[in-house]
Amino acid sequence: MAQHDSDNPRGNSRANASGAGRGPGSGGTTHFGFEQVPVGEKQKRVREVFSSVAQKYDVMNDLMSFGIHRLWKRFVIDLAGVRAGEKVLDLAGGTGDLAREFRKLAGPRGLVTLADINAEMLGQGRISLADKGVVDVPFVQANAECLPFEDGTFDCITIAFGLRNVTDKDKALASMRRVLKPGGRLLVLEFSKPQTALLNKVYDQYSFKLLPLMGKLVANDADSYRYLAESIRMHPDQATLKGMMEDAGLARVQVYNLTGGIVAVHRGYRLD
Ligand code: SAM
Repeated sequence: MAQHDSDNPRGNSRANASGAGRGPGSGGTTHFGFEQVPVGEKQKRVREVFSSVAQKYDVMNDLMSFGIHRLWKRFVIDLAGVRAGEKVLDLAGGTGDLAREFRKLAGPRGLVTLADINAEMLGQGRISLADKGVVDVPFVQANAECLPFEDGTFDCITIAFGLRNVTDKDKALASMRRVLKPGGRLLVLEFSKPQTALLNKVYDQYSFKLLPLMGKLVANDADSYRYLAESIRMHPDQATLKGMMEDAGLARVQVYNLTGGIVAVHRGYRLD
């Protein structure tokens, strides 16, 4: 399913190296989906989206991705290579799909923390993990842009489908690098830029027609799922995100395209 693509030469998407999608631009505004909003407002709008979808989040994830999000997450879990005794942060961890697996791998000497900005999503995460018998994961309400952890705390940080919702992505990446131990790794799993024109076309139809319809039928919330589609289009493409991670001081950044680039995993290391 995955193809290794560390030298991805992309750069022609709506959210490319010109800076669109990176975060706040000049003039005190940023994007919320396709809408320009004052910088201070984006976080509130994102919070409203996830508070609204929290209860149906897991069901909708399975429906929208036809269950494929599980394979994408499995790929990240394997690539993260978490070992017994390690300290792991699952950032924007939501309902805890990754944290649950990392908890098993880190073992009794390890520590897995789930952080998310949204209280409702954290609440769903707690319920979901407890249902599966996982009760030793600390839940921390935190903004990715200013993580409340000491420098050099974690061996591994993951952020799955979270970064595109963050207002200042550069600040968030710098914050993640700060709390990584030297030698530690950051893995970003996020929607990205499909690699062929045909796939792009099909995906556009799916995102802008089917997704809001499913949102309306299942969660009675077409707007949140329209935001989801728009936020994906506004997210930096593979090459741009790789550059952003390097600018944040992460090294040896590799890009793995999954499902034709609909989703990509970026892995980088803090070296010093
Ligand atoms: N990681 C989970 C997964 O893959 O299923 C949840 C992903 S969900 C699409 C995005 C999550 O990012 C939400 O739980 C949301 O509350 C969180 N989030 C959005 N902005 C954030 C921020 N600035 N800092 C931390 N978490 C944030």
